Amino acid sequence: MNDAVVLSTSAEQTVEHFDVLIVGAGISGVGGAYHLTQQCPGMSFVVLEAQDSYGGTWWTHRYPGIRSDSDLHTFGYRFKPWTSAPIATAAEIRTYMGSVIAENDLARHIRYHHKIISASWSREDNLWTIEALAGDTGATRLFTTRFLWMCQGYYRHEKGYTPDWAGMESFKGQIVHPQTWPEDLDLTGKKVVVIGSGATAATVVPAIAGACEHVTMLQRSPTYFRTGRNAIALAEELRQLQVDEEWIHEIVRKKILHDQSVFTQRTFKEPETVKQELLAGVRAYLGPDYDVETHFTPSYRPWRQRIAFIPDGDLFQGVRDGKASVVTDEIDRFTETGILLKSGKTLDADVIVTATGFNLSVLGDIAFEIDGKPLVFGDTVTYRGMMFTGVPNMAWVFGYFRASWTLRSDLVADFVCRLLNHMREMGARRVTPTLRPEDADMNLLPWIDPENFNPGYLMRGMHLLPKRGDKAEWAHTQDYWNEKDQLPAIDLDDAAFVYG
Ligand SMILES: Cc1cc2nc3c(=O)[nH]c(=O)nc-3n(C[C@H](O)[C@H](O)[C@H](O)COP(=O)(O)OP(=O)(O)OC[C@H]3O[C@@H](n4cnc5c(N)ncnc54)[C@H](O)[C@@H]3O)c2cc1C
Repeated sequence: MNDAVVLSTSAEQTVEHFDVLIVGAGISGVGGAYHLTQQCPGMSFVVLEAQDSYGGTWWTHRYPGIRSDSDLHTFGYRFKPWTSAPIATAAEIRTYMGSVIAENDLARHIRYHHKIISASWSREDNLWTIEALAGDTGATRLFTTRFLWMCQGYYRHEKGYTPDWAGMESFKGQIVHPQTWPEDLDLTGKKVVVIGSGATAATVVPAIAGACEHVTMLQRSPTYFRTGRNAIALAEELRQLQVDEEWIHEIVRKKILHDQSVFTQRTFKEPETVKQELLAGVRAYLGPDYDVETHFTPSYRPWRQRIAFIPDGDLFQGVRDGKASVVTDEIDRFTETGILLKSGKTLDADVIVTATGFNLSVLGDIAFEIDGKPLVFGDTVTYRGMMFTGVPNMAWVFGYFRASWTLRSDLVADFVCRLLNHMREMGARRVTPTLRPEDADMNLLPWIDPENFNPGYLMRGMHLLPKRGDKAEWAHTQDYWNEKDQLPAIDLDDAAFVYG
């Protein structure tokens, strides 16, 4: 039975009940829905999505050139072969997700225009009550569920992060954040400055380089980039041999993960060699006279931050051809006509694009309550980055920073389905992660080690995130290569799971 049970109806309000309620129809939520149909047949579920379609990140972001920076063999689902070039556009990713929805009859489980605003747990009923705002009518809809599966991503989809620079209000041109790119923005003949040097800036700059008069990428400090052909030789060869796509997907995933593991180890063992290899990739496009030292040589060890892949070096081709340029400097203030830099130089601009990141959203900005008391996630400790101490019947999906997000969303889905089946078998109505006696003296630390990974949106919101302990059970280790074996082996009867 996959349909809702209507619990109560009055003139004003209907309450629908589902065994599982998934928040968000991005890559994680759609994957969760698929895994439930496969691994928990008979359980009723619904996916509530605030936006008007599926895709999450790949529906929200519409800036020119929007594409993945991971390969789609590993960013794609384990169960659905990716059959095109590894770096994919948002439209291609949505087409792929659309096939997963159609092939598995998932559309009937997804409700769009449903923004969840509150979630309250009642210990007496062992139920979550969810309140959603129906965006198309403004009405409030009520749901109850046994289990809440949070697939809401990590940032606020409505609006990106723009720092507050002096003089912004005086700028006479247009300021645009890539996350809310205006559909009708015409850059013909315009001077554009893109602030930032992450994956988004590195995508926007080559995408608009031919379309505007000139584009300048303004960065405070350089970033590492990897370049290469947007193709995987092994996949091409296997395809020539007419190997089944299912096999190709499996083999190429293994190959990519193996290569990534070797690469990661090398960044620790021989960081200088890796650094020189990455810089050589950049120089190959820009030539010996370009100042790679100033503009493309970061001060940190490779892999400390995510390394964006630049297919066919398109960013560097734009720079080489004179359509784009890179300035490494700091912003002093915005002026009427552009930006004054700390060096005293000025950059003229008609349009300024702030590729400056995201606003962290902790669990979908939902007001959570447990038995009438507001839930403060910063006071909880995470169980393997999937559940929280004192928070019953809830799992969330937070993927990997350095490996594809979906590798983890598949693993978490297996765990959730196993847990749900275990609870069904033992007749449990509640499971609450709880520190064990042996965890009493454990050091409690921030969600992620800033020495290990420190993007701005996480640093700004770290205090809002759950804490981690100094044991693997109580941390999101960000280590796919361990988790792929550890998560399937979790003992569901461990004392960390208190059932009721
Ligand atoms: C531009 C960009 C490129 C990226 N490229 C890569 C990449 O190449 N590889 C990689 O591994 N990672 C990448 N990432 C990280 C990326 O966000 C994740 O990999 C992945 O897409 C996240 O999927 P998700 O389904 O977990 O969350 P999201 O894609 O964020 O989707 C969450 C969904 O939940 C909905 N939602 C949120 N709150 C609520 C609520 N209260 N009620 C109802 N619905 C709600 C949102 O509307 C959204 O549709 C990229 C991120 C960005 C922004």
